[in-house]
Amino acid sequence: MISPQLLAPAGDFSSVDAALDHGADAVYVGIGPYNLRAHAPNFALQDLSELLDRVHAGNRRIYFALNIMPGPEQIPEIESLVRKLRLDTLLPDAFIVSDPGVVHLCRELIPDVPLHLSTQTGTFNQRSLRFWQQQGIRRVVLPRELNLKQISDLASTGILETEIFIHGAMCVSVSGRCLMGAYFSGRHPNRGDCPQPCRWSYRITPLMSDSGNPLQEPWLEAEENNNGTYLLNARDLCTIEILPGLIRSGVTALKIEGRNKSAHYIAAVVKTYRAAIDLFIRNPQEYTVPDEWKTLLASIDHRPYTTGFYTGELQMQEVFSSKATSASRIVGVVKGHLKENLPVIDVKNSFSIDETLEVLPVNQSRTPFPVSISRCTDLCGNVLDRISSNRVIAVHSSESLQRGDMLRRTIS
Ligand code: SF4
Repeated sequence: MISPQLLAPAGDFSSVDAALDHGADAVYVGIGPYNLRAHAPNFALQDLSELLDRVHAGNRRIYFALNIMPGPEQIPEIESLVRKLRLDTLLPDAFIVSDPGVVHLCRELIPDVPLHLSTQTGTFNQRSLRFWQQQGIRRVVLPRELNLKQISDLASTGILETEIFIHGAMCVSVSGRCLMGAYFSGRHPNRGDCPQPCRWSYRITPLMSDSGNPLQEPWLEAEENNNGTYLLNARDLCTIEILPGLIRSGVTALKIEGRNKSAHYIAAVVKTYRAAIDLFIRNPQEYTVPDEWKTLLASIDHRPYTTGFYTGELQMQEVFSSKATSASRIVGVVKGHLKENLPVIDVKNSFSIDETLEVLPVNQSRTPFPVSISRCTDLCGNVLDRISSNRVIAVHSSESLQRGDMLRRTIS
């Protein structure tokens, strides 16, 4: 069986490093504002040379998302961006696009660069696959609304490469068809600016006639408490339990959602799915989900999980809260070692020396393990009593640490 590509999101350089260190085969990123995470840090033109070098040095792939549905005023901007990328030879391994106008523009300006069709376009059937094949598309990201059998049917046509989401946030509505954000606040979901009204709390107020009789029937039933109801709030997708079926469907790539997510989140999700894919490919009969994988996926920011439409699970909403919870917080990342083999930590959140931390190791054969830090110094060797965030320090640790390991703290 062929191992599908594991594709991770990245909103900045630390997420790119986390994805590559923990085993992603490819990353996808946004360039400027023309992608569906307009509020992620994204990458500027001056970052691209380093970005491409970093990804290609590890023999991985990188895709640029250009998947907004642009209005007439944005097409010249996108055209000039693509021309600039071509001129400066800063082209990725593929562009992710959704608008037919952008497809047309890319085919004309950069015919040799593969195009992947975003899930936003909504490619639900084999005729649509054929149509997009004729437009020069290489790969289609299938809608999250398809079930496992439908995915398998489409992948087995072999018309185009197929990609599906395996983990991350879900839309409560059909991908690419939701206008709630634009309706409520004028912010356009198909231009990367969704204010996520599906995560808001609502109160149900029956419409009454002057005489006090209800105006509309039948009623929509909703569970409501003192905070109202989050009746539109979708759970997050997690497919670790059904991964064998997804791999057997024959899709080319398994994609993780979340270009707004932290490097810590990316590391934990990529590590778990890397281990799961490798285990299944090595020995499909022995695939089981060990507790460590469940614990790791439960430790990062998430809403309650669902397998979504893939298995037709009924409970895909969470009506009492839309808040994501997490059981751990990043403390720092190992950036390398000093001459005496002392690990150098890029500190993200302050910590104290007497704390027991946990290591999220880059080594695939290791699961998270506890570590204590007995001494911290700056890079000149001066001892530090207090370790604040956003500084680089050297540490004496109870366990040996590798470049790319993440230190994290468990929170209740
Ligand atoms: S409002 Fe919710 S369902 Fe609609 S596009 Fe935004 S995130 Fe998706």
